[in-house]
Amino acid sequence: MAHFPPSFLDEVLSRTDIVELISRHVQLKKSGSNFMGLCPFHHEKSPSFSVSADKQLYYCFGCGKGGGSFQFLMEHDGYSFPESVEYLAEKAGMEVPESAAPDADEQARRKQALVLLEKVANQFSRVLASNEGSEGLEYFHRRKLPDELIRRYRLGFAPPGYGFLSRSIGNDEHSLAQLEAVGMMFKGDRGYADRFRARVMFPIRDRRGQVVGFGGRILDQGEPKYLNSPETSFFHKSDLLYGFSEHRDEIRKRKLLLVVEGYMDVLGLAAHGLPVGLAPLGTAISERQLREILRLDDAPVFCFDGDRAGRQAAWRALERMLPVLDAEHGPRFLYLPDGEDPDSLVQTEGADAFVRRIENEAKPVLKTWLDGLKFLAGSGPEGRARMAKKADAMLAVMKDDYLKQAWRQEAENDTGLTLKSQAAVDKKPRPKISSISPSIPNQEKFIAALLQKATRIGKLLSEKNKFLLDDDGLNLIYTRVLELAAAGNGIVQSLLLEFPQEERIPLWVSQSDISDEEYEKLLLLMQERFFHRLMKKAGSLEETERCRIQWDEIRQKLEKVGH
Ligand SMILES: [Zn+2]
Repeated sequence: MAHFPPSFLDEVLSRTDIVELISRHVQLKKSGSNFMGLCPFHHEKSPSFSVSADKQLYYCFGCGKGGGSFQFLMEHDGYSFPESVEYLAEKAGMEVPESAAPDADEQARRKQALVLLEKVANQFSRVLASNEGSEGLEYFHRRKLPDELIRRYRLGFAPPGYGFLSRSIGNDEHSLAQLEAVGMMFKGDRGYADRFRARVMFPIRDRRGQVVGFGGRILDQGEPKYLNSPETSFFHKSDLLYGFSEHRDEIRKRKLLLVVEGYMDVLGLAAHGLPVGLAPLGTAISERQLREILRLDDAPVFCFDGDRAGRQAAWRALERMLPVLDAEHGPRFLYLPDGEDPDSLVQTEGADAFVRRIENEAKPVLKTWLDGLKFLAGSGPEGRARMAKKADAMLAVMKDDYLKQAWRQEAENDTGLTLKSQAAVDKKPRPKISSISPSIPNQEKFIAALLQKATRIGKLLSEKNKFLLDDDGLNLIYTRVLELAAAGNGIVQSLLLEFPQEERIPLWVSQSDISDEEYEKLLLLMQERFFHRLMKKAGSLEETERCRIQWDEIRQKLEKVGH
């Protein structure tokens, strides 16, 4: 983790408004002293995602995700910690201290590369709008993409022949080497050459909306039909989805996500009022992409051609999906009529009919699985046996035990055979993610009370009876709270950074306020336990006696407050 001075981080946060930051993605409504909205991290129908302007924190009472502005950018937009700091610093008009970034070279290279790709994207769009690109523009118009959409998705054209990029970006050695590094040129026998020629261009953006690569479709009959940027340190095909940064918010709002095959399907749907399509980048869909998809929507629709190849592709997607499936998600599979793709279909029948088609025809993943098994196994007793075997093998990779059990029962009903792998189904009931529980143990409650009111910590620092907590993990946080307060640093935000695994911190701060009266009692309880422990451990009679006096004192106070 890059080391930013705490005072710098404090300053960045003090100039950032988390409500504004989050409301760009989540519709927030004022509710009491907080803002509430639908959680962007899990699927829900009524809001349990809260954002506090005073505390500059978000917390979801449904799934337990929480943090401050840095954490939101990291969780939601996939920023690294230094990137999130830089982003917010820049927004606040602050300079990032030079010494703060240990990978300064790497960061600088990445930044330069992104700036360059941005320039390249602009050049391609410029050409598309000029005479030189008329062929490309005609293609998009033929595919019924309106000009407004062409601009919004920054579509472009790479002219035929070599030398376009060196002419428009620069032909000095440095520029050429940079263009090669970002995958836009390659070095052949006769020097640098443009990778994309005579192609309409689709800029591919990462989660932050930055252009990280391109897809290009050839206009004549040449091969390959689609060409993508090669893998670089920031362009990983299996991590990215075309349309993600453009459609993420719309998908959440409409609760509709269509996974389609190609760029033109994504754009065709958007042109007809369905900006909810995502496509892998010409490769089979990866487990990472599937996770991303399921995070966005609980019932995404995977569209496939109705022909044999389409059904095979659907089966492969289903197989890949099994390890990431859980009972909370119900992906659906839609087979399109012969010879149609989502783009052509939405053009002929319109968006409403297409959405109705999804409602009527999309098959739940379980049904797709059972049908696929039956088809693969064939008929007769041998077929049933083959089906059972295949089902067993596929169930073995599923991680959600309850879902696995449910699917097994369905497959047993269909085959009339008992499936073998009764793997650890009943053994470990999963710990349910706790929504706010009133019975937070006292030590946690004590820390929560401290975090909720800084004056309590101030008083503790001047207290003569210093004490520790029983629980080692909590003690670590507690002592850090005292240190941070003594150093005058922002406490909650620092804790979030120092204990990134500790999911309870935002929960403690976001739960209902702990009254002063209750806090006094908690404080005494903590002290009571501490001195009791000290007394038991004391090495000499004298020491034991000293501890007993303190312990008695505290117990008397506790009695007074009615404990
Ligand atoms: Zn949530």
